[in-house]
Amino acid sequence: MAFESLSDRLSKAFKNISGQGKLTEKNMNEMLKEVRMSLLEADVNYTVVKDFIANVKEKAMGQEVMDSLNPGQMVVKIVRDELQTLLGTSDARINFKKTGITTVMMVGLQGTGKTTASAKIAKYCKEKLAKRVLLVACDVIRPAAIEQLKTLGKSIDVEVYSLGTEVGALQTARKAMDYAKDRQKDLVIFDTAGRLHIDDELMKELQDMKSYVGPDDILLTVDAMTGQDIVTVAKEFNDQLSITGLVVTKMDGDARGGGLLSVRSITNVPVLFVSSGEKVEDLEAFHPDRMANRILGMGDVVSLVEQAEEKLDMEIQKQTAKNLMSGTFNFNDLLNQYDEITKMGSMQKMLKMIPGMNKMAQNVDDELMNKNLKKSRAIIQSMTPYERENPGCLKASRKNRIAKGAGVKVMEINKLINQIEQMQSVSKMMKNGVPNMNALQNMQ
Ligand code: GDP
Repeated sequence: MAFESLSDRLSKAFKNISGQGKLTEKNMNEMLKEVRMSLLEADVNYTVVKDFIANVKEKAMGQEVMDSLNPGQMVVKIVRDELQTLLGTSDARINFKKTGITTVMMVGLQGTGKTTASAKIAKYCKEKLAKRVLLVACDVIRPAAIEQLKTLGKSIDVEVYSLGTEVGALQTARKAMDYAKDRQKDLVIFDTAGRLHIDDELMKELQDMKSYVGPDDILLTVDAMTGQDIVTVAKEFNDQLSITGLVVTKMDGDARGGGLLSVRSITNVPVLFVSSGEKVEDLEAFHPDRMANRILGMGDVVSLVEQAEEKLDMEIQKQTAKNLMSGTFNFNDLLNQYDEITKMGSMQKMLKMIPGMNKMAQNVDDELMNKNLKKSRAIIQSMTPYERENPGCLKASRKNRIAKGAGVKVMEINKLINQIEQMQSVSKMMKNGVPNMNALQNMQ
């Protein structure tokens, strides 16, 4: 995951200073040296780092900070705010027209994730903003791109307009606009051709397309794994096409994050979305403030709650809470909760969004957790409906049968029974409204 080692190094840099009652030029310089090294190691552009450190220093040396009750923490806040300024002062979004069709042209080098991002953005706008979207396959150079877009469109239930590879991109675009008008679409996203490297032919094609379509937004996909190359590519595309926003892809890889941190301040083009996976749902609208918090290991509870609201089944959550309160929590509830946890995706990602959990998250092995979850699920699924509802009935012979059915040892079943007993103790505590210290101690 991008920013992992930057987060680690920055928190080490702060450890020393945030506990200091008094700031001196010496301990401040030491910390700034560490911050500077962390940023350079994360592959942030040298000039960006230089300006960043100068800004932090100037603000931190201000009298108000020096005289404050907790100057060390004030300095950490200044770094945080500067980080946010680097990433963007406000959230940038697609420029939707008040009436009529909004058009977005997706551009980018081959392999950066342009076609996938076109579909991800279509899904995002359809589901979150209730837009009627049309995807248009204008990448007529790479034949597989059209099929890829059609498959993606099908999976998100968004129409894809294509005239095949025999018809030029401009003509496809023109016909697609007529089609979109007829069907009263709100948003048309054009997936354009890319190349492995920037070349004149590509730019000419894209410029023609731009004058022809007159898009409301031109979004460039850049691959986070390419580090500072993001800046070079964004600069070139911006000079030639005046792009309006960036989609940073492959944030799930082991990119160090320097490209994302440098690009805004060098090109002045905002990041609109970040993508962190191959699946169509792996796209997030970019929030500079939340990203700054995540980088500093301060968590991102707002995004976590948003994701929970979106992905979890609130009826199931309500029912589980009710069962917990009434002391009737059983294996069916546990099974439901396993399904719900799976919907939230990576546990490591989730923990990182909780303030102070960054370190713990690093010790979480998602693969192992999924394996265990699968095993527990198989055990519950090998139980009869009666057993699921009455965990107390599970004696030796039933346990042996279930173990055989799930292909596990009886010990694994005992572990799960133990887990449900702990949940039931909590259930009883809640039902009685009296803290039961024995139950609490047993849980440790
Ligand atoms: P295009 O040539 O720019 O249109 O690129 P594609 O959309 O075909 O994507 C190239 C490859 O990158 C495909 O295998 C995608 O599944 C993959 N990809 C795209 N976005 C992401 C991402 O955010 N994370 C990861 N891990 N892979 C991605």
